[in-house]
Amino acid sequence: MRAPTGPVCARCPVALGASCCEVKDDERLATVTRADVARIAEHTGLSTRRFVVEEGLTEEEAADYEARRPLYRDYFRRSPVRWTLAVRAGACVFHEKGRGCGLPADVRPVACRLYPFERWPDGSWSVQVTRYGDLAEARAGGSACLAVEEAERMEDVLAAFGTTRETVEGLGVQLAQETREHGRG
Ligand code: SF4
Ligand code: SF4
Repeated sequence: MRAPTGPVCARCPVALGASCCEVKDDERLATVTRADVARIAEHTGLSTRRFVVEEGLTEEEAADYEARRPLYRDYFRRSPVRWTLAVRAGACVFHEKGRGCGLPADVRPVACRLYPFERWPDGSWSVQVTRYGDLAEARAGGSACLAVEEAERMEDVLAAFGTTRETVEGLGVQLAQETREHGRG
């Protein structure tokens, strides 16, 4: 899952070669819920098929996804189908070249607003990307975040995105709730 939104993201394409909204053919963007889709459809007037793609997983893959990401528990309750944002020309359909996300912050999928923070099965929070400690290595590694590479501590990462632990944890609560509703269909 990839997706981004902080001020640091504007520097990312130059520093790391691409922002998280720009993906390779074999990469997927953020996992979205029905609530995300409803907010985006209401704001843009687009039909769902214009910006959502469905990815069929095996039952095992779906179970593993939920086990590794507790915020997505019950996402696959009715079927092992993952909804992600559609990609067009190597980027999210809402990505505007050189400008970033074309959606207002409160309309973006919660996963985009949360990235790169993640709550783990033991209840702890951290970042979901690899830390390389060297920009050249990070660029080559392909799973780096500029904010993480530039940070010394978690507080630095939070500050780079202009957010706080409380905000991140609040988004986590929202995501977990909307995931459960998504799973109920
Ligand atoms: S919705 Fe916006 S933040 Fe999320 S992946 Fe698309 S362009 Fe990036
Ligand atoms: S890698 Fe980090 S800094 Fe770069 S676009 Fe993604 S979230 Fe923003």
